[in-house]
Amino acid sequence: MVQEQIKKLTLLINTVILVLVFGLMGFFYLSDAWFLVWFSIPTAGVYLTGYYLIKKDMLDLYVRLVYGWLTLYMSLATLCLGYSFGFHLYSMSMIPIIFYTEYMAYQLKTNTINTTLYSALAIAAYLITTGYSLFNEPVYQVDSRIAGVFFITNSIVVLGFVTFYSKVMIKMVIAAEGQLSDRANKDRLTHLFNRHYMMEQLKEAYEDDHYYYIAMIDIDNFKSINDIYGHNGGDEVLRKVASTMEKHCQGSVVSRWGGEEFLILTKEAPDLIESLREKIESMTVEFEDKKISFTITAGVAKKDKSIKLDKWIDAADEKLYFGKNNGKNRVVT
Ligand code: GH3
Ligand code: MG
Ligand code: MG
Repeated sequence: MVQEQIKKLTLLINTVILVLVFGLMGFFYLSDAWFLVWFSIPTAGVYLTGYYLIKKDMLDLYVRLVYGWLTLYMSLATLCLGYSFGFHLYSMSMIPIIFYTEYMAYQLKTNTINTTLYSALAIAAYLITTGYSLFNEPVYQVDSRIAGVFFITNSIVVLGFVTFYSKVMIKMVIAAEGQLSDRANKDRLTHLFNRHYMMEQLKEAYEDDHYYYIAMIDIDNFKSINDIYGHNGGDEVLRKVASTMEKHCQGSVVSRWGGEEFLILTKEAPDLIESLREKIESMTVEFEDKKISFTITAGVAKKDKSIKLDKWIDAADEKLYFGKNNGKNRVVT
């Protein structure tokens, strides 16, 4: 998935650069800057090769060749036409691209790039070309108004590149963090919050001034569901119960406390839990052409600051066990 996104993005950027090269080639031709016209031919060749490298998943080679060449191309343009065209700015846009590449290589588990070395090369290219053209006349003399237009256009392209890359980077980092936190806080089977996350939420709820309820919920006779329909049938029931709870209890924190036990932290119980029980009682899960029915029992306990947090949880547990010993399929408050 990430690999496909990176490939798409790289293809897009390769196309943008290729169009840019052809545009520049036309301009160099009109300006009689023949060296640059000729140099644009291998440059276009490099970017056409780029498509092949992307297609063959040789992204690390692609980056070294293509971005290295871009720096060379823009440096030569600066030496030939002078500082006032703003081609030297492209070396600066190399730096975020180099770091983006390092991240990309890490994601794709390919050879990582020496970011310090490549950044140093980009900085050297910038300093050499600007340094040279500040003290020497350009090879080709072009109208200074045209240079002005180029300076603005190149600035826009470079700043646009830098903004775009930074945005893509931060989006990727945020997505990766989200995945990590999901892995740490969510249960794989049901995608509900796990016990560890719920404990954090309970601590916060216990400390704040609002009233809360917790509902400890257990699927009735779940062992026999497993026995009759197999473990996969049981898993299907767990998923269905989880998604029903999430939909029914929006605004509450729903967690898988363990096995076939769930804990809900809410400001709305016990009516909410009673309606949840009714809903679950009335539904079925289709599994291998069979319909599985099931019920839940719940113990609901209100927050009480005079007892400790774990005693609050125990209180819900005790009510649940009272329900289990007194007919099941009920909510005990
Ligand atoms: P009760 O009504 O008293 O709660 O009876 P029960 O059969 O639901 O309770 P019991 O504790 O005897 O059995 C719970 C079963 O849940 C045992 C365990 O194998 C099963 N279980 C725990 N986690 C999972 C799971 O992730 N998937 C499946 N399919 N079964 C699980
Ligand atoms: Mg059970
Ligand atoms: Mg149980």
